[in-house]
Amino acid sequence: MIQWRKKNDALGTVNRGDACESGLCTLCTTDCTGKCETWLSCLKGREVIYPRAYGESTSGSSNVTSVGVGYHALRVQGYAYGSTGLAERLTKNADDCVFPNTTIETSFGNEIITKCKVPIMTGALGSTFIAAKYWESFASGAAICGFPIVVGENVVGIDKKSILKNGKIIEAPELDRRIETFLRYYNGYGAIIVQLNVEDTRNGVAEYVIDKYGNDVIIELKWGQGAKDIGGEIQVSSLEYAKFLKDRGYVVDPNPNDPEVQKAFEARAITHFARHSRLGNTELDTTDEVRESFMTSVAYLRKLGYKRISLKTGAYGMEELAMAIRYAADAKLDLLTIDGAGGGTGMSPWNMMETWGVPSIVLHAKAYEYCKVLESQGINPPDISFAGGFAREDHIFKALSLGAPYTKLVCMGRAPMIPGYLGSNIEGVIKPERKAAVNGHWEKLPTTVSSLGKYPEEIFAGWEAVKKIVGADEMKNIPFGAIAMYGYADKLACGLQQFMAGARKFSLDTISRNDIYSANRETERETGVPFMTDIADKKAMSILKKQ
Ligand code: SF4
Repeated sequence: MIQWRKKNDALGTVNRGDACESGLCTLCTTDCTGKCETWLSCLKGREVIYPRAYGESTSGSSNVTSVGVGYHALRVQGYAYGSTGLAERLTKNADDCVFPNTTIETSFGNEIITKCKVPIMTGALGSTFIAAKYWESFASGAAICGFPIVVGENVVGIDKKSILKNGKIIEAPELDRRIETFLRYYNGYGAIIVQLNVEDTRNGVAEYVIDKYGNDVIIELKWGQGAKDIGGEIQVSSLEYAKFLKDRGYVVDPNPNDPEVQKAFEARAITHFARHSRLGNTELDTTDEVRESFMTSVAYLRKLGYKRISLKTGAYGMEELAMAIRYAADAKLDLLTIDGAGGGTGMSPWNMMETWGVPSIVLHAKAYEYCKVLESQGINPPDISFAGGFAREDHIFKALSLGAPYTKLVCMGRAPMIPGYLGSNIEGVIKPERKAAVNGHWEKLPTTVSSLGKYPEEIFAGWEAVKKIVGADEMKNIPFGAIAMYGYADKLACGLQQFMAGARKFSLDTISRNDIYSANRETERETGVPFMTDIADKKAMSILKKQ
């Protein structure tokens, strides 16, 4: 297994724990005092793109050999001439062809086009408590930055304050909070997407949402995710809450109604209960049956009034991948998110995360191939978002390029959660009266933060930009986590623009598969992306042999 680097002296970053390919730790904790690249960019924004001690140091890449198959083994193209994708107002003059002039806005959809200021979206943040705790930061941040955020499964089912009558939702305060927080700062870019799993469908989430919010919300059917091939789960440490979840119809393990389990809980031999969701489509045996059921579900959602519908699928094998792409195309869905192994927010059994499913790069490479197959038959493939272990701007460029022209967005699970809790920890120190409300962990600022300053205006590179967007008066209502999100998104945006300028692509829709190459033969074989010295080799020969 490849050991991922934990420390980067050039950027001045270090992982708190073991590192993944994404650059995040295998375990990312909400009290972390730093400082991986994502953590630091929440505070310093685009400055983190560059090596530290600029002007007082030199630095050199340590990443010029690539072993094994993975996104790390794709490299980004650069060209010595040309420029494409320039906005109309720009010319091919060098004064116009500068990286800030690249356009990174994207859009997806069919009847209603959803626009995004940056080509990212969050993973599904559902009933896991970390999502609820930091939601104000996540949703305000996404709305201010202008990218989609996904409300994951089971939010209503586990909400003690929600009211169900005859098994259907009457009141859903937590789901309302999730949607309304985003809509408060929504400014025409991004979207709020609400997922439906088996339990949500039974509880009438789709009916409730369309009645209350209409087409302000995108509804998402859920087949799976990258982290696991069983339904979503959470852990609860209260017997009473475990019984409540059992009564709500969930699978709760161990059974909190079993007297022996209750005795073990009293004796502290058992301290937690795991709540599981059900698997989907268990009663269906053939792909035709799945297709029919899927089309019926989509037709039902359309009849309810939904104009924007998406599908999320996980790291399943090739049959399910083909089904997801073909059915999404036939149903004219607005977006298909394909989450590879290595993805997810991690509320999953550890060895399942480590060993199940098709890793992102090969799954994504196949998705591209299958979209081409549809296109060759005259069928429009769906707009696609790739997910599964992304955190940096180079990941975004590579994923968009690998799936071009079908990939419109890159979905990130864990990375955009870091600004939420980092900002909240800082807010809890600077505004102690808000510490409990924002779930801050810290008593004082760690040196990793205090070295940047004492006041939020000094600590957050994104402060002034957010102030400009929401207005000075509104800043008192903006969670610090949302400001940290802006810093992180700004770093991704700037880094992506630089990669695009280097590849001479000044708009996202001009990024193509030609803008990456494989750094080893294994990756070439698995992805179909040619090895670096094979690309343009014929052109090189013709130059050399020109008479
Ligand atoms: S924020 Fe998370 S991923 Fe980054 S160093 Fe801390 S624990 Fe690791």
